[in-house]
Amino acid sequence: MADIIQLLPDHVANQIAAGEVVQRPSSVVKELIENAIDAEASSIKLIIKDAGKTLIQVIDDGKGMSVTDARLSFERHATSKIRTADDLFRLNTKGFRGEALASIAAIAHVELKTKQEHDDVGHTIIIEGSKVVSQDVVVTPKGTSIAVKNLFFNIPARRNFLKSNTVELRHIIDEFHRVALAHPKISLAMYNNGSESFNLPVSNYRQRIVNIFGNKTNEKLVPVEEDTEVLKISGFVGKPEFAKKTRGEQYFFVNNRFIKSAYLNHAIGSAFDGLLKTGTHAGYFLYLSVDPQSIDINIHPTKTEVKFDDEHTLYALLRSAVKHSLGQFNIAPILDFERDSNLDVPYNYNKDIIHTPKVEVDSHFNPFQEEKSAPTGRMSYKKEPAVSWESLYVGLESKGTKSQQDFSEVHFESEESTASMFEDDKQVEQVHTTYQLHKKYIVSTIKSGMLLIDQHRAHQRILYEDFLQHLTVKEAASQQLLFPLQLHYSTQEISVIVQLKEDLEHTGFIFSNISEDTVEIKGVPIGVPESEVSIILEQLISDVENEVPDSNFSATDLLAKSMAKSLAIKTGQGLQKDEQEHLVNKLFACKEPNVSPTNKTTFITVSIDELDKKFV
Ligand code: ADP
Ligand code: MG
Repeated sequence: MADIIQLLPDHVANQIAAGEVVQRPSSVVKELIENAIDAEASSIKLIIKDAGKTLIQVIDDGKGMSVTDARLSFERHATSKIRTADDLFRLNTKGFRGEALASIAAIAHVELKTKQEHDDVGHTIIIEGSKVVSQDVVVTPKGTSIAVKNLFFNIPARRNFLKSNTVELRHIIDEFHRVALAHPKISLAMYNNGSESFNLPVSNYRQRIVNIFGNKTNEKLVPVEEDTEVLKISGFVGKPEFAKKTRGEQYFFVNNRFIKSAYLNHAIGSAFDGLLKTGTHAGYFLYLSVDPQSIDINIHPTKTEVKFDDEHTLYALLRSAVKHSLGQFNIAPILDFERDSNLDVPYNYNKDIIHTPKVEVDSHFNPFQEEKSAPTGRMSYKKEPAVSWESLYVGLESKGTKSQQDFSEVHFESEESTASMFEDDKQVEQVHTTYQLHKKYIVSTIKSGMLLIDQHRAHQRILYEDFLQHLTVKEAASQQLLFPLQLHYSTQEISVIVQLKEDLEHTGFIFSNISEDTVEIKGVPIGVPESEVSIILEQLISDVENEVPDSNFSATDLLAKSMAKSLAIKTGQGLQKDEQEHLVNKLFACKEPNVSPTNKTTFITVSIDELDKKFV
């Protein structure tokens, strides 16, 4: 029988390898910037067009390549970074596989220009789908510029698989943030469709974080430092009161390389134990240095996963370092609302920090709260006994000591106003045919038997349809704020808000100013409590960023869904009879009462027949 095995031609092998290395435009961004860093660049520019689908260009002022190296760099397994297998354990470069350029050149149009410092002229090579189209001398500054055009031009299936520009750009920005955060000593700029998105000067770690995420970030950071034989930790954790519902700003770097580690993330989570409101996540920017011999970064082609020799020790060290910082900076006692008294001495690290509990809560004065409510001028620290919606607090008030109670009230003050949605409902007949079950379901009788409504989902449906109507009719009413509300965001977040500004205005938001890192709001939709505004916007930004838009993507719909999600009555909220009834009536006045905006069942019915069967 004839032999049938053949060696794959190089360009085919490269295309296959490309599948691993290049998943999307952001993968190219990562590889090119990493090469620039390995080339010891002090300044790197990233230029993007159409979320990288049309152009990704990285220009560096690094050491450049000789003409032979320039040509060789596009060969597979061509690398200047390792020579023997042993080198793999001494890595201090980002790349080492020698696959990136070969892979990228296999699936795009690539134009390289490079010059070494002492050469008079540089060299340019144009490669399309692994084929060298031209090679020439060129006048170009010291360093390297690589332009990658028309990514996946020869693999239509991959090209079609790319997500919307918003999503792809988000990935690129994430990648850019990761390198930028790891290398504050390199100046980095990013231009998107001709306008500057970031321009980050050389700085220190803290300043770099602030330059990326906005000035307001500075006050949120608590430094973490720990130096042991196996591990050096430096960086910052976010103060618990700024914890977000999304996991956005969580970064681990190991030897200046961004990594993901669910295990180490858990260590941070446990250091924050008892300090965070459920469902929120503290941000962190933590830089770990370990002996390169004790890690293996080779286990994943895109190199964000690392295998540590001694994970357990790292876990313990990390956890205690973070706990220490939280204790030392008086974070722990200030903010607990549901805290367990065993945590009163948050961290027994060093005797001299244990005096922290002296920041005891003075129930008449709480600077944190003062500051928070000052601009609104509407809320005194002590809660006035609520009248009709008192039951909303039932679950919260039953807890703990006096001071804890105060904190619960402070924290959940917003929910008081959520209840105002029922305010205009006083006229509803007081025929109490509903019953609330476990602060989660509303039970009601119907002709054929029994109705069980999920209060959270039902309320989402009601709000969603309300918002949609406002958005389409474009005449939602606003309530003016006494003092404009200032909220701080990163550049990327601001761009999402700008993008949705008009729609937000149709729901009743009034923006008085949007600058580079601050949004000023002077009016909010009726029924939206001021204290919820930042949560709503944060949720919205995260929804937009995580949305994978399909052909029916609609910003209006997303906004309505997101706001409904943020504002809907939660599971665990007690509701009074008239509130329960109002909810039932409103639900059945909806166009699609049976599902929530995210298509989950809002209610079920159980017929008398079914009940009877259970009693046989
Ligand atoms: P790796 O980074 O794994 O070595 P790449 O395919 O990314 O593999 O790059 C191949 C080689 O090309 C590198 O080892 C390096 O010598 C050279 N190179 C790539 N980009 C640059 C750059 N921006 N400046 C200087 N040399 C570069
Ligand atoms: Mg590389």
